[in-house]
Amino acid sequence: MYEYKVEKYRVKNAEKGMNELAKLGWRVVAVLPNTAMYGVVVTYEREVDSEHSICAECGSKFLLASSKMESLCPECAHFLYGYPNCEHVFENGKCIKCGWNGNHSEYIKSLLSDD
Ligand SMILES: [Zn+2]
Ligand SMILES: [Zn+2]
Repeated sequence: MYEYKVEKYRVKNAEKGMNELAKLGWRVVAVLPNTAMYGVVVTYEREVDSEHSICAECGSKFLLASSKMESLCPECAHFLYGYPNCEHVFENGKCIKCGWNGNHSEYIKSLLSDD
């Protein structure tokens, strides 16, 4: 599934605007001239990802189905709320089971260093 977005730019600002949205995962579908305002109208699309979420504690992307909490990855939900952790299997810098990237927040690092 895709979501769409339409933005209008002055020609000189168009490239900057497109680069900024590209960082957020938006892909340019069409660029049309807007002669009325000497600018361009850019249509973007982005794949809607309903399977992943971003962890509010460590900032890692994670697979929603792998965690008991919508806003926390299994790792953070484990340390903050005592939920069972994922038995992480790391490949290419992230867990193939839950998607966690191995990042710990400062708070969880301090919990881990206490014992
Ligand atoms: Zn986390
Ligand atoms: Zn995992």
